[in-house]
Amino acid sequence: MEKMIETAPKMLEISNLSKNYGQNHVLKDVNLTVRQGEVVCIIGPSGSGKSTFLRCINLLEQPTAGKIYYREKNVLDHSLNVSAYRQKVGMVFQGYYLFAFKNVIDNITMAPISLLKKSRAEAEEEALTLLTKVGLANKKLVYPASLSGGQKQRVAIARALAMHPDLLLFDEPTSALDPELVGEVLKVMKNLADEGMTMVVVTHEMSFAREVADRVIFMEGGYIVEQGKPTEIFENPQNERTQKFLARYL
Ligand code: ADP
Ligand code: MG
Repeated sequence: MEKMIETAPKMLEISNLSKNYGQNHVLKDVNLTVRQGEVVCIIGPSGSGKSTFLRCINLLEQPTAGKIYYREKNVLDHSLNVSAYRQKVGMVFQGYYLFAFKNVIDNITMAPISLLKKSRAEAEEEALTLLTKVGLANKKLVYPASLSGGQKQRVAIARALAMHPDLLLFDEPTSALDPELVGEVLKVMKNLADEGMTMVVVTHEMSFAREVADRVIFMEGGYIVEQGKPTEIFENPQNERTQKFLARYL
């Protein structure tokens, strides 16, 4: 079914976002609106500020200047309940960050039990549904150390989903994986996108971006240099720097 992005409600509205680390201006006047159901992929060279951008959105970093609105609520307002916000705007990291001394199902149920006040039985039933969805129902009782990287990342995605996020941020979710494990994670992400999940994905997987993104953003040097539909960015990039970056992937 064709998505109707243009008329969907605005989920995130970011304007003039800047982040400095001392004299290092890492994000410069970044503007981005993400609408419900939209999949935005962010590409760009290492050091261009992609992670910092996601970390600012998730409030893991405090922006130096600019505005972030989530469903018309000012995220940078000091009265914001950060934990409640992060339940709605979840994040999946390159390094999974599973709890090593908890088995798979406990990794998934911990936050729903403590933060969403679910009963253990309800949280476990839901966790099992999510594990089935990411193809890991048979791993529910094992510890992270016995999982492959691709399996760990799929558990991390199930854990994020257990909080019923409105929007998920992914920071290079497959960059730490052996090449043969990348596909299984991307498939889970594509399924999520097909189900209508709103996603902002920093990735070097150009074929994923081309296939799944509604919009592709090219960042370099702390700026959004160019953005557009995947066909526009990949087949007919306008900016010379976008062209140069993409040439490496041909
Ligand atoms: P990317 O994810 O695109 O590779 P990053 O957002 O990680 O880029 O980093 C952008 C720039 O910000 C880099 O120059 C990096 O060294 C710098 N940087 C990132 N995090 C910090 C930090 N916590 N303190 C100081 N500098 C940082
Ligand atoms: Mg990064």
